[in-house]
Amino acid sequence: MNTQQAQNVDRQELHKFDAGGRWWDQQGPYRTLHQINPLRRDWIVARSGPLKGLKVLDVGCGGGILAESLALKGATVTGIDLGQGQIEAARAHARDAGLEVDYQLISVEDMAAGRAGEFDVVTCMEMLEHVPDPESVIDACARLVSGQGHAFFSTLNRNPKSWLLGVVAAEYVLRMVPAGTHEYARFIRPSELGHWLRNAGLGLEDMAGIEYQPLQRSFRLSDNVDINYMVHARPKP
Ligand code: SAH
Repeated sequence: MNTQQAQNVDRQELHKFDAGGRWWDQQGPYRTLHQINPLRRDWIVARSGPLKGLKVLDVGCGGGILAESLALKGATVTGIDLGQGQIEAARAHARDAGLEVDYQLISVEDMAAGRAGEFDVVTCMEMLEHVPDPESVIDACARLVSGQGHAFFSTLNRNPKSWLLGVVAAEYVLRMVPAGTHEYARFIRPSELGHWLRNAGLGLEDMAGIEYQPLQRSFRLSDNVDINYMVHARPKP
């Protein structure tokens, strides 16, 4: 089998995230990821406990916004992505920041074939809605996490409200993310995500919404999972 063809990746989707030099521009195309990062980092730490000394894998790491913030919490972090520009931007920034993060250009499925059960924490944020087969990514993440470990996913819900606010408002009115970033049809309902987690042998532990507050122009964690949301899952005993 041609491994290139077999890869679970959409090159056009990768291309949306290869604005290499701009990954760490706080006002740049990925500013919303910078804005939500403290919230999700703190939620991950609250759910999994202190990260010091733990092995973390960040899947679809992009320029390393989350990966670096977890390394700063004392974790030994590996970040993987299939975008060459993304991995280069991530490596350059970690080097400049004096941080050790192991960034690799490899698919999560290939990673799972070699390093099953190796990671205490696996994170996969804002990535599932960009891949052809999200269930395969979840299954690979489930294989990579250790028996006592933690897995975290985030994505966009699929309903009329998430189309209006997550696509129309975010991309064209408020311009929180570049136009064309998201395809509504690829959004994932919590019920679908829950089904894939169960199929992968993971049990759902908790869920949290990342809610935008237009008046404050900031995000907060909430019970409202209508638009952007995160899940915490663990291997079932
Ligand atoms: N997880 C990071 C970046 C999110 S942007 C964060 O939340 O800050 C989505 C990322 O997913 C991009 O970096 C893109 O290159 C990556 N991506 C898309 N398809 C992928 C695939 N099949 N395998 C690995 N990474 C992928």
